[in-house]
Amino acid sequence: MASEGSGEIHLRGIPVSPGVTQGKLVVLSRQEISVPKRPITEAEIGGEIARLEKALLETRQQILKIQKHLSSSIGEKDASIFDAHLLVVEDSSLMEAVKKQLHSRLLCADYVFFHISQRYAQSMREVDDPYLQERAADILDVSRRILNNLTGKVATDHYTLEDNSIILSHDLAPSDTATLDRQKVIGLATDLGSRTSHTAIMARSLSIPAVVGLKDASYNMESGADVILDGYEGIVIINPSEQTSFEYGQLQEKHHELEVGLGELRTTEAITRDNHKVIISANVELPEDLALIEKSGAEGIGLYRTEFLFMNRLDLPDEDEQIETYQKVIQAAMPNSVIFRTLDIGGDKIVDNMGIPDELNPFLGWRAIRYCLEREDIFKTQLRAICRAGANQHIRIMFPMVSTFEELRLAKGILQSVLDELQNEKKPHCSDFEVGVMMEVPSLAMIADHIVPHVDFMSIGTNDLIQYSLAVDRTNEKVAYLYQPTHPAILRLIKRVVDAGHIGNVWVGVCGEMAGEVLLTPLLLGLGVDELSMGSALIPRVKRAVQRLDHNEMTTLIEEIEHLSTAAEIEQKLRLVASQHYPELMN
Ligand code: PEP
Ligand code: MG
Repeated sequence: MASEGSGEIHLRGIPVSPGVTQGKLVVLSRQEISVPKRPITEAEIGGEIARLEKALLETRQQILKIQKHLSSSIGEKDASIFDAHLLVVEDSSLMEAVKKQLHSRLLCADYVFFHISQRYAQSMREVDDPYLQERAADILDVSRRILNNLTGKVATDHYTLEDNSIILSHDLAPSDTATLDRQKVIGLATDLGSRTSHTAIMARSLSIPAVVGLKDASYNMESGADVILDGYEGIVIINPSEQTSFEYGQLQEKHHELEVGLGELRTTEAITRDNHKVIISANVELPEDLALIEKSGAEGIGLYRTEFLFMNRLDLPDEDEQIETYQKVIQAAMPNSVIFRTLDIGGDKIVDNMGIPDELNPFLGWRAIRYCLEREDIFKTQLRAICRAGANQHIRIMFPMVSTFEELRLAKGILQSVLDELQNEKKPHCSDFEVGVMMEVPSLAMIADHIVPHVDFMSIGTNDLIQYSLAVDRTNEKVAYLYQPTHPAILRLIKRVVDAGHIGNVWVGVCGEMAGEVLLTPLLLGLGVDELSMGSALIPRVKRAVQRLDHNEMTTLIEEIEHLSTAAEIEQKLRLVASQHYPELMN
């Protein structure tokens, strides 16, 4: 962090979602709570109890308010997730335990309450009952809120945000980002994170400018300051001077004009100068993304991350609810198709209600298809819903995180059993569908030729493919410099998959974040990728890039860069091509 003259504070991080925005800083401090260990006298016990009761009351009111807000925005069913939080607030045994310890330990209510709530949560976690284990997360969540009230800290809930809020937080889980008030939040900044963390991906999808990797900024800044966030350069300026605000205002204007110009490409196709077409489709996480599909000119949905339907709730969506949601997604993509990626929970997409224990290496652990093959009940319900929603439509089903041939065979076997069941039950279901697999684990990419005869398509998940090939945690800003999409190994893996696909007449897409980066369009085009799927906001830019390039020239470019040994050299070549053909997109 560097302080500039005139009281401006410049913070530099990693730009993850483009756009320049100016607003008021809102520091979210939910993650870390320092709890004072203050001794008290016997005479103070009554006062401490009164303080705690007041905090409980405030917490109860806040939860009811959130519930009310959520039931009008996302429906009563989802808002009911806070019922469990209310139960914690109203739990008299918790209060009794605190009172007892106030007397026996003579320490302040904050400290006593904190330790008792941690112990409660811990004992819940240890019980051999998935339901009770899940309650541990509720206890921790609600006790954070109670402590914030007790210590007088403002726990900023999304619903209390003012207009033009720029959020600064230590971290934001994808589930937090999913509940942000899109009308009020115009920028996101976090201490942690990297380009391919799911929060960054969502910010891009929602067109919210974002900067991550700001180290410890959230601990040093206070809410209320004026702030400029530059999502192109990864800069956050607190207390900008008039001159700085003016300059950024002009930059905003310039980018706005460019976006308006790009908007006109909506109805055009991504066809190169030498007439080679690439399909451009959209990635979808939240229902809100659906409205953007038509606006962006996407040719279908190349990745629907179904796991977001399972987040921020305590119950699992049943078959009917899933059918209803999936039908909406199919409708939004019409007349084009949707790739339904089956549940990909785990990693940084933590879903509280699914019994996934804390793991030492969540990205290498029990996630995605590994979870689904073990929890066949959940997997089958989802597959039934997808197949039923797809009755009389053309749909695509794709399995994530497959690392072995056997996993693909097992997943396809379960899909077939679901289709047989639906047939026996005479329930209408899809008959026109394709089955594909994500190529995001290097082991599968290496045996792509073995996989091709068993799938209709493959989609390369570069976010994970890079993470696993280069041994770089995709969410860790400390090693972000090693996260290199242009690493020669990545180039080789993509080439291997595309070539194997084309030999076997199977089309190949890219649905990781590489697909939306215009710097990398020459690379993916030259490698022969058939489809690029990205956050809707990025589609016009990539369309323009493809339209300005020549496919044959890009094929030749690949032959040249295949001989290079470093990511930096390859990137330099690509930068040259990109700034020659579409300088206005390279900021
Ligand atoms: C990927 O890994 O590239 C991908 C598209 O999936 P996700 O980002 O959801 O892991
Ligand atoms: Mg992935």
